Amino acid sequence: MFEHVVKIMQSCPCGRRHGLLTEECVVSRDALLRMKEYIEKKGWSRPAVVADENTRVFAQAILEKIPASLTVVAGNAHATEVWCAKVGAFVDEEKPDVLIACGSGSVHDITRYVACEKTLPFLSYPTAASVDGFVSGVAAMTWHGQKLTFPSVPPLAAFADPEVFSSAPARLTASGVGDVLGKYTSLFDWRVGQILTGEYLCEELCALETEAIDELKEALERRAEIGETAYCEKVMNALLISGLAIQLSGNSRPASGAEHHMSHLWEMHRLNETNDGLHGEQVAVGLLCVTRRYEEALRCGLDYEKIAAIDPERVMDRAYLEPVFRDLTDGILKENMPGGVPASSSLAKIVLTDDTDRRIREAAAKILPASEETERLLKLAGTPVTTAEIGLDPSPAFTARSLRFAPYVRDRLTLLKVLDAAELV
Ligand SMILES: [Zn+2]
Ligand SMILES: [Zn+2]
Repeated sequence: MFEHVVKIMQSCPCGRRHGLLTEECVVSRDALLRMKEYIEKKGWSRPAVVADENTRVFAQAILEKIPASLTVVAGNAHATEVWCAKVGAFVDEEKPDVLIACGSGSVHDITRYVACEKTLPFLSYPTAASVDGFVSGVAAMTWHGQKLTFPSVPPLAAFADPEVFSSAPARLTASGVGDVLGKYTSLFDWRVGQILTGEYLCEELCALETEAIDELKEALERRAEIGETAYCEKVMNALLISGLAIQLSGNSRPASGAEHHMSHLWEMHRLNETNDGLHGEQVAVGLLCVTRRYEEALRCGLDYEKIAAIDPERVMDRAYLEPVFRDLTDGILKENMPGGVPASSSLAKIVLTDDTDRRIREAAAKILPASEETERLLKLAGTPVTTAEIGLDPSPAFTARSLRFAPYVRDRLTLLKVLDAAELV
């Protein structure tokens, strides 16, 4: 699969030049040795490792092979301004020439943020196959209590040792599978964006993500036969590919659609007070809710008269969004109207033609598995499939409300957003 990435980089039929800052992606038992060689090749002499209490043991193993300084954040540390300031102060004192993120998602986001702030290169050493963000270029932060994504830097290289990440708690690996299977609706929504608004879409990047999902699915079906280490390795491969696809695309379009918007909405704590789900667990639950909604909408038939009559002014209306988003409404309106007026929203770009319905149905048939199949795969992976399992309101009314408002966390066009906007006509 990594060869496919190189091919897309060299030349792509879509005509775009897909850039990649990550030079190497190694998933191998000798990952640590390969990282040592990479550091020597680059001539770095003062590496510093960032780990958390749970991954300290792996950081110690790095230190045995590579002379480096070490800083350890709390086991439950999120990527907040507090932890970034602490690691930033450590960097000011130690003056390393490269940072190594040794951990899962939050350790990577803290390291990525500090590396970007101090203009240092960083390397990824993932200790769990839990998210696709290791090699991506955006940092998911919790800044003064608010969930934000900051443009940041991807690692120059990633070194993942199957012995290490397959020893992570099973819940983390399951969460990684949820993040990968979420690409079913991400890819469908991207296609819907292309069909309805003529949005740019790269067939090669879609094929790359599809290949990653298919290989993971095969490993999931044969999990008992191939064994846990090989299974976790397949999950890690799919996550790294997905992260690279985000870099190649220049944004998260190939890897994030309505299912991620559900997760973002729940993390904004506007409909719910808390939620206990890991990122990929929320994506898994979001995926199933969205797949069922799409299935039902397609079964009943999309109402093209209403879609044609969508009025962005009516949707980008404070009176509609404020009761839910409250103090975040200004930010939500800004996000949904990049040009400052409703006519600049993605909804305003919809153009219907005679074959719109046929193309949407064909895309759904090709990309989206039936909801029963998605549920089966998620259960096989061991992810939650209901809102209740991640500490959210179990009522159908809560799910309906989440489906209604989730599309507005981003301007990105999804079928979910079209369905909601059409109901407001
Ligand atoms: Zn392309
Ligand atoms: Zn994700």
